[in-house]
Amino acid sequence: MSDSSGCEKVQVASAHGCRIYYCHAHQVAELEIGATSLRLDIEAYAVLSGMIQQSQARIAVLNQTQNIHDELFRRLGRST
Ligand SMILES: [Zn+2]
Repeated sequence: MSDSSGCEKVQVASAHGCRIYYCHAHQVAELEIGATSLRLDIEAYAVLSGMIQQSQARIAVLNQTQNIHDELFRRLGRST
C-alpha cells in the first residue's frame, strides 16, 4: 500500500478494544475491531454509520415489542 506516504491518520474514537481512525489526506475512515480492520472512504463510512444507527433503532423496537409480548403472556399466565 502506498498508504504510509502522506497519511494523516488520527484516532477519533476508542472503546472496548475497538478503535476508529480517520485519515484526512485520503478521506478514509478505518474501523479496528480486534484483529479485524475495515477501511472505508468517508462517504461509505457515513452510509455505514447511518445503517448502524437505523439497525440500533430497529433492534430497540424489536426488544421493546418482545418485552411487551413477554409481559402480556406473563400476566395472562398469572390470571388463568
Ligand atoms: Zn491516509
